[in-house]
Amino acid sequence: MNFALRAIRAATASPLRKVTTANILQRRTMHIQSIPMWTGSHDNYAYVVIDDKTKDAMVIDPANPPEVLPVLKELIDSGKINFKGIINTHHHYDHAGGNAETLKAYPHLPVIGGAKCAEVTTTPKHHQTFKIGEGVNVTAIHTPCHTQDSICYFVEDGEERVVFTGDTLFIAGCGRFFEGTAEEMHEALNNRLAKLPEDTRVYPGHEYTKSNIKFGKSVLDTPAVRELVQFCEENEETQGKFTIGDELKHNVFMRVEDPEIQKATGETDPLKVMQKLRDLKNNFKG
Ligand SMILES: [Zn+2]
Repeated sequence: MNFALRAIRAATASPLRKVTTANILQRRTMHIQSIPMWTGSHDNYAYVVIDDKTKDAMVIDPANPPEVLPVLKELIDSGKINFKGIINTHHHYDHAGGNAETLKAYPHLPVIGGAKCAEVTTTPKHHQTFKIGEGVNVTAIHTPCHTQDSICYFVEDGEERVVFTGDTLFIAGCGRFFEGTAEEMHEALNNRLAKLPEDTRVYPGHEYTKSNIKFGKSVLDTPAVRELVQFCEENEETQGKFTIGDELKHNVFMRVEDPEIQKATGETDPLKVMQKLRDLKNNFKG
């Protein structure tokens, strides 16, 4: 997509809305419960995705069982969910490291994820789909770069759309290129994820928004960026509060063709802008 077209799409995207968990729960066929895993130095999220009709549910990246298993047990024991399996966004320990212990408590469940994820039973192909219960459709989107086995999951129930992005796309940022290149991250963010419907809500693997947008503001000072800085001053959690349309506006890694960012990085080639942004962010001391 060229920059002009993206600018038009961004301009017509839905305005930033503050959505509470309560009103999501009322509207959705699909329920999403966030489990912040914030003990010690952790700052990541597991998520439970529930099909309202059948109560079938899967858990995404249950990395820290002491924080996740009590939540699952409560949901299962109170009859709110039928626990059907684990989904992983990539193999890193702070995402797939809780699989074995979760399976010890709930044996024989499928583990859907990249080839290197612990205990994995199924690796979906790029664009392969599967269901949670009857009403929740999941599409795997391969996004190799942070790890070569990184997979994002686009999840829809006919009315609402969300995407679980692991360590590929964060609110206002992206993961480090541990196993990949700027070209792969550009493809992941600015082709595969940017093409999702603009009202798709983003559920990343970590709560990094506050530091991401601090860096973002150092290379792009726009109303959208300032609005997110303000949001982070007032809110500790940002997962599910922003859409792909919002990311196209405030995420500098999704605006590699923005003249202001090209000026700040001293590069014009999108891949060089992407690499330069990553280098600058790695060394950023906000
Ligand atoms: Zn990771």
